[in-house]
Parts: sequence; C-alpha cells; structure tokens
Amino acid sequence: QQFREVHLNRKDELGMLAAGLNRMGIQLSDYIQYQKQFVSNVSHELKTPLAAIKGFSQYLYEGENEDEELQKIYYHLVNESDRLTLLINELLMLSRFDKAGPDEMDTEKTDLTQLAEQVATGVRAKADSKGIELTIRQGPHAFVYVNQVLMSHAIANVLDNAIKYSDPRTRISIEVLIREQEAIVQISDQGIGISADEIARVQERFYRARNASAAGGTGLGLSICKEIAEKFGGHLSLESQLGAGTSVSIHLPLL
Ligand code: ADP
Repeated sequence: QQFREVHLNRKDELGMLAAGLNRMGIQLSDYIQYQKQFVSNVSHELKTPLAAIKGFSQYLYEGENEDEELQKIYYHLVNESDRLTLLINELLMLSRFDKAGPDEMDTEKTDLTQLAEQVATGVRAKADSKGIELTIRQGPHAFVYVNQVLMSHAIANVLDNAIKYSDPRTRISIEVLIREQEAIVQISDQGIGISADEIARVQERFYRARNASAAGGTGLGLSICKEIAEKFGGHLSLESQLGAGTSVSIHLPLL
C-alpha cells in the first residue's frame, strides 16, 4: 500500500514538473537529458581536484606527526576523499550508461557460472575478514551474452552489499540457477534485511533504506547493477525480510 502511494506521489510530481516545463516551452525528456549531462560534467570536473586532496591527505596522514587529534583529522580526510571518489566514479559509470547503446559495448558469450565463481573468489578475503562464511553452491553451467567486466562489477557489487549489511558469523551463498529462458545469479545473506515498504525503492539512484545509515554507501551501487542487467536484456529482483536477510537475483536471458 505504502509502495503504491510512493509511486503515485512520484508520478504526480513528475506530471507537475512536466506541466511547468511545458509552459516554458521545454520538453521533460530534454530537461532530463540536460540534468544527466550536467551531472556528468560536474563529476569530470571534480575528479582532478579530488585526486589532489586525496593525495595530500594521505601524505599528511602518513607523515611524522605526534598530535593524536590532528592524526584523527587526517584519517577522516583520507576516508572522506575515498568516499567522494567512490561517489564520483559511480556517477561517471551511470552517465556512461546514459550515453552508450548496447551495440557500443564489447559483449561475448560467457559462462555465467564460471564468472560468478571468479568474482566470489575475489571477495572471499573480505568476507573472511568479517568472519562471514561465503559458499558457492555448485550449479549448472549457464551461458549468457554480456560484457564480462560490467557483469563482474554487478556481481561484485551485490556481494559487497551482502557483506556490508551482514553481521559476523553469518552466511552468504552465491548460486547460478536456470529457470525457463533465464540464467540467474542469486546472492543470499542473513543480514539486516530491507523493509517491505522500501524494497521497491532501493534500485533507484541514491535511495538508501532507513536501517542502512550505520554502513557507508552512496545508494548508487544497486541502481548501477540494475542498469548493467538491463543493458543485456535482464533485470534485478530482490526478496528480503527485515532483520532476517536479503536475496538479490540478477536475471539474464539464457543463450
Ligand atoms: P549503498 O551504497 O547504500 O550500499 P546500494 O545502491 O548498493 O547503495 O543499495 C541501496 C540500498 O539498498 C542500501 O543503502 C541498503 O539500504 C539496501 N541494501 C542493498 N543491499 C542490501 C543487503 N544485502 N542487505 C540489506 N540492505 C541492502
């Protein structure tokens, strides 16, 4: 019910915006395009100065310094510039999607099972260091047509979230399934979960659930995964129970 209300409100807002723009002789689609271009330009402009800030904070932090308070500030600066760098890289990735069509991307026949295993192996150390058991469930080989770098990025992102939003001594599993004409990478955790009224919104750009604030993040990761899946004719689906766990599935057309 709440979900429907949220979407009706958003539709109304968009309708009002479109009507207002119309009065000024501007099309909503042009306006959205302009906004996307603006974000892309600003992100590019921020990259260089941010790299300088990061470099200098790192230099200060690693330098000889006895003052503990100052050292804390330098540490904070390094962390904050890392966070901004992540945000900017994610924004740039989204703006690349806004521009590139599927034909402009390098795609190839890919064994999704093998790719998922490779990615899981890459994040295993991170799970281990948090005391989380990551299991790869052996499944059938499933072939899909994707860009392997982007697809690895999407799977890694979902796995990173599973680790980030889970407590130590819990489990995460990754499995590739075949259902009808689809290959599905399913990643299930026993973490904090997402409430029913928010589950439809977490794939939106910048949306973060109420219970996520303790963990750092930009709210862009899942929207990037969604766009990657959609680029290759697929989609994301989520199932979750607050306080019990989440299962995120990346669906792709089977070759
Ligand atoms: P973030 O950078 O905040 O992690 P994402 O776009 O990756 O952003 O995810 C959006 C939101 O979805 C998160 O802020 C969090 O509220 C929720 N979320 C995503 N994955 C999980 C998960 N495995 N468990 C619980 N909540 C999750």
